[in-house]
Amino acid sequence: MTIIEAGPGAAVGTATAHHEHLIHKHSAHNYHPLPVVIAQAAGAWVTDVEGRRYLDCLAGYSALNFGHGHPALVAAAHDQLDRVTLTSRAFGSDQIGPFCAELAALVGKEMVLPMNTGAEAVESGLKVARKWGYEVKGVPEDRARVIVAAGGFHGRTISIVSFSTDPDARGGFGPFTPGFDVVPYGDRAALAAAITPDTVAVLIEPVQGEAGVVVPPAGYLAAVREICDATGVLFVADEVQSGLGRTGHVLATRAAGVDADVYLLGKALGGGIVPLSAVVADAAVLGVLRPGQHGSTFGGNPLACAVGRAVLELLSDTGPHGMLARAARLGEVLQHALAALVGSGVVAVRRSGLWAGVDVDPRLGTGRKVSERLVRRGVLVKDTHGSTIRLSPPLVITPEELVSAVDALAEVLAELG
Ligand SMILES: *Cc1c(COP(=O)(O)O)cnc(C)c1O
Repeated sequence: MTIIEAGPGAAVGTATAHHEHLIHKHSAHNYHPLPVVIAQAAGAWVTDVEGRRYLDCLAGYSALNFGHGHPALVAAAHDQLDRVTLTSRAFGSDQIGPFCAELAALVGKEMVLPMNTGAEAVESGLKVARKWGYEVKGVPEDRARVIVAAGGFHGRTISIVSFSTDPDARGGFGPFTPGFDVVPYGDRAALAAAITPDTVAVLIEPVQGEAGVVVPPAGYLAAVREICDATGVLFVADEVQSGLGRTGHVLATRAAGVDADVYLLGKALGGGIVPLSAVVADAAVLGVLRPGQHGSTFGGNPLACAVGRAVLELLSDTGPHGMLARAARLGEVLQHALAALVGSGVVAVRRSGLWAGVDVDPRLGTGRKVSERLVRRGVLVKDTHGSTIRLSPPLVITPEELVSAVDALAEVLAELG
């Protein structure tokens, strides 16, 4: 196959058109994909069905933190494929115990509830928080309430969209699950005022990812911890996107010197190979679940656990050559490159580790338009909320590749200006 670099004016070829037609005709229209049909990928690069190569600066919304086909992760998957892939939780496997022990140790908690998708981790965390509220805190039956933050994103199930503040996420999906109170993100006074004797948990993202990499004001996470401690409420940190390396740390809350009671993990936990998510907490919290009260056929399957263990192994390297240090170093390169664009088509940049939200001057066009132009220049990103571009490249990207992606953004902005 000949490799043709994507460039301005690259035509959408017939193979792309063919697949786009099939996708449009037969796959539900719950997404509006950019005009790229990927056939292959390695590291930070993907190749489309026409043989054009693109630098992947979305990385599966951080599910691909370690890049496409990381050799250690692929080897773990291959190895486990030949042994056993699924046992169901009716039986034990020789992968689930070590996986849960290793994840608990990495997070500094006692127990793990393995699930599959991020939304399931959130749902499971909410069930655990409610049950803890009734059994441990003593909230009267069916009165438990959970406080969440406006602008947050936690998944797509009915209960989760019940507390979403995004009209697209909610519209047409009622009736909604009761028991949630929404407060402004980053506002500690509003949070303190919203707590009632029936509040069992505060569920927040330490950095709001889908909202456009919104970093809370300094001291906010510590204030959430203090408020939860003072009122006997669980602090549930949704680190499905912020966790496992993206911010240069295993956990974004820990980077702020704060420990949550319950951690929700997903995305990168499955190494971009399998869906794998988890609720991580101490036995005093997760111990409220007893047989028959929660479950999942695929949750904690040996294939996912084997890949997850290889992910944890990558994250356990805290030295200068590890993924965490790499994310932190690359984050500074990204910051430096993006700072030069502020005032030249970019209104604001927010960043945490190798993760940035770039607000494009709305007069230049929508984030969608900028993303489409970037595709033509061989860079994959995704817009969010109107004129924001979110950059979350794989941590294996090189500094030169990263700078080239920002250069492409600068060219697109100049072209639109
Ligand atoms: C992506 C995401 C989820 C949902 O994960 P899925 O695997 O898509 O269900 C939940 N919380 C946060 C913070 C996320 O970014």
